[in-house]
Amino acid sequence: MRVSQKRALAFLQFADLTDSDQRSAVYLRPVSRLSGLKGLRARRPYNQSFSWGHRGRRDGGGDPTAEPVIDVRGLTKHYADIKAVDGISFEVEKGQMFSLLGPNGAGKTTTVEILEGLRDPTSGEARVLGVDVRKGYGKIRNRVGVLPQDFEPFDRLKPREAVAYWAHLFDRTLTKEEVAGLIRTVGLADRADTLAMNLSGGERRRLGIAMSLVGKPKLVFLDEPTTGLDPGARRELWGLIRQLKSEGTTILLTTHYLDEAEQLADDVAIMNHGKIVARGSPADLIAKHGQGHSIVLAGAGEDGLSAVRARGVVAELQGADVVVQVPLASDMRRMLEKLASIDIPLNEIYTRRASLEDVFLNLVGARMQEGVLAA
Ligand code: ATP
Repeated sequence: MRVSQKRALAFLQFADLTDSDQRSAVYLRPVSRLSGLKGLRARRPYNQSFSWGHRGRRDGGGDPTAEPVIDVRGLTKHYADIKAVDGISFEVEKGQMFSLLGPNGAGKTTTVEILEGLRDPTSGEARVLGVDVRKGYGKIRNRVGVLPQDFEPFDRLKPREAVAYWAHLFDRTLTKEEVAGLIRTVGLADRADTLAMNLSGGERRRLGIAMSLVGKPKLVFLDEPTTGLDPGARRELWGLIRQLKSEGTTILLTTHYLDEAEQLADDVAIMNHGKIVARGSPADLIAKHGQGHSIVLAGAGEDGLSAVRARGVVAELQGADVVVQVPLASDMRRMLEKLASIDIPLNEIYTRRASLEDVFLNLVGARMQEGVLAA
């Protein structure tokens, strides 16, 4: 069984049990990535000295919709000498799609696992739907949906059975119509009676989303939901994710695909080495940390570079292309006209808008491979 499946199974078993001793007994196969998950070890005593500071204690009481769906303040998580999460703060408002981005090892999964109630933080505050994740999770677990990283369904269950079974684990009995409705929501109506092992990657992820929705969650964690899918399947899943959001579900999306975050997220936090290095809407981040627009003189080479520089244009060579940055969109026409007046041998000329990828290169310096952040 793959580690990711074990994590899914761990969550499944955790979901079913509320008593910490029971949880400890259920997790029999600790693996390195999972060994710190709550329930895979004896639960340490709650830190009585933990305090909510000036805001006072708000455990579970009150109207959870009156405050952020996720509220993180000064959160840290240390593994021995590794500061996986190093003092991050953010809020996610109701109905928002929030995306955590960052290169491998940035601390995204650790953050999400804390917010899913699977790990205790080392210090700081983390509240989900108004409760302290360290001790109040039992009250909200049924209102939180999770699609774990690399989710794999049970091969020998059909979607119709898997959804009903999952609901049962959450102490819910769904009617046949409710199960069919969920399966329809994720676009699997014509695959409802196909063994999961015979579903495509995209269909399996859709099934995972259907399973995460059995409790009619207010908040859904989607941890790299489209990793490994082909571009068509990714776009189909984006449609489903947008639909969830349009119905008012708050979504925390973790992804390595920058275009995915740019397309879907209202708000993005870029993590690196456990810290949030930039935060804002994709458009704001691009405006602040991207470099506006650029004009690419494809194939113009060294000769083209010399020619444009001779006319006082600031340009750089990227491979065989000459790239001219145009910070202000209003300057674009003037610069295009100027470049057109220079005799440059080139294959093609096109303009390019800065993207989240450029923001990444500026802030994190992460390499990209086919649009995906690399280690
Ligand atoms: P990826 O994109 O590769 O999934 P990530 O941003 O999700 O990475 P994390 O998985 O949260 O990052 O890991 C952050 C850091 O903490 C890494 O250095 C990782 O090796 C370390 N780490 C994560 N889990 C554990 C663990 N259980 N024990 C020790 N170190 C861990």
